[in-house]
Amino acid sequence: MTTADFLASDKRHCWHPFTQMRDWCAPDHEPLVLVEGEGAILRDSEGREYVDGNSSIWTNIHGHRHPKINAAIREQLERVAHTSFLGFTNPQAIALAEELVALWPRDTKNPLTRVFFSDDGSTAIECAVKMAVQCWQHRGQPQRMKFLAFSNAYHGDTMGASSLGGINAFHGRFSAFHFPSVHVASMEELETRTAPGAADPIDTRTLAAVVIEPLIQGAAGMLLWPRGMLAQLRAWCDRHGIFLIADEVMTGFGRTGKMFASHHENVVPDFVGCAKGLSGGYLPLAATYTTEAVYEAFLGNYEELKSFFYGHSFTGNQLACAAARASLAIFREENVLEQLQGKIALLREQLAALGKHPNVGAIRQCGFIAGIDLVQRGGEPFASGLQTGARVCAAARKHGLLTRPVTRDTLVLMPPYCITEAQIRQSVEALRRGIEEICG
Ligand SMILES: *Cc1c(COP(=O)(O)O)cnc(C)c1O
Repeated sequence: MTTADFLASDKRHCWHPFTQMRDWCAPDHEPLVLVEGEGAILRDSEGREYVDGNSSIWTNIHGHRHPKINAAIREQLERVAHTSFLGFTNPQAIALAEELVALWPRDTKNPLTRVFFSDDGSTAIECAVKMAVQCWQHRGQPQRMKFLAFSNAYHGDTMGASSLGGINAFHGRFSAFHFPSVHVASMEELETRTAPGAADPIDTRTLAAVVIEPLIQGAAGMLLWPRGMLAQLRAWCDRHGIFLIADEVMTGFGRTGKMFASHHENVVPDFVGCAKGLSGGYLPLAATYTTEAVYEAFLGNYEELKSFFYGHSFTGNQLACAAARASLAIFREENVLEQLQGKIALLREQLAALGKHPNVGAIRQCGFIAGIDLVQRGGEPFASGLQTGARVCAAARKHGLLTRPVTRDTLVLMPPYCITEAQIRQSVEALRRGIEEICG
């Protein structure tokens, strides 16, 4: 098929996520048809090559077509692709659960010892939410059914995960269907509203859990939390006897420079949701970690109906678990996190130079994640209708970089960790040229 055939067919039958399809289907809109990848590079149907500047929406970590992950998937495929985790078990999921548990400290008060598999970030969070609610019921505190989340949070799009969300454009219209959650902007607001005599009080006795994107909120615009805030939140949850759910869907598996964002502040949450990078970004796979204490609350005679009646058809999928194990092996065998530190520093240095451009406002970096705000020359934001961020990304594409903005005009750079130093420089240069062409 030619590119034109692909696009004609796409525009007839496909419906794309987070997309105004009238714009997508406009005759002059020619989206790329991505057909191949290798390392940090993607190739389109016309043979043009690009750096995968947002790691295929934050999923890829060791690069595309990594020989070890490819081999692991092929090898598993020769045995079986999928078997049910309901009533059966399988070698790949068993080994992966053990390897995942080993990534967290054991010598702590409440270590993460249990892993529940699902398919996507949203389901990883959905599962943590349901476990938290049910756990409080078993513990005789059924009034604990509210969740506390942060303003501008993004935890996924299923109804439960979106109940925790704080991005009005995505979540607002479904608010009538959402379960009760309270949003606060900061640790200070949380402290103030839960202090005795507070003006707009939050009743901590009805809270089941607090959920946070640790260190950095992604979809909100790559916004950084103050240093130390996660540890403060852990202490706050301990003081009030409330669960802490860390949404490590974006930050997990090395993205912030350590294996998990929580590790930067020596925090062990009660639940951790991960997905995106878990399988190396190759196949849909998610995991919800929890503690032995939570797990034990679900034990009982069958008639007590304390089981966690939850699961998805593809829970524990063997191909995806094999990919995830290969990805973890690459971390161990190729010193990925050590190698990444130099690239994080190079990215910081290159972005500092980009920051001198008059159309670049704040730049925020957390490990190998960067958000770059576009502004008018006086520092004011651009009007929203201009779609400046999207246009800059379209221009950067001509210079060999694929990425897309978050919120309106925050450019994102978070390439696969295998990106070369030359490709890091090339990517920042592509952004600079894109900014120059659109804003300059
Ligand atoms: C992407 C993301 C999700 C949702 O994951 P999906 O796999 O898209 O369902 C949840 N939380 C965070 C922090 C994310 O970045």
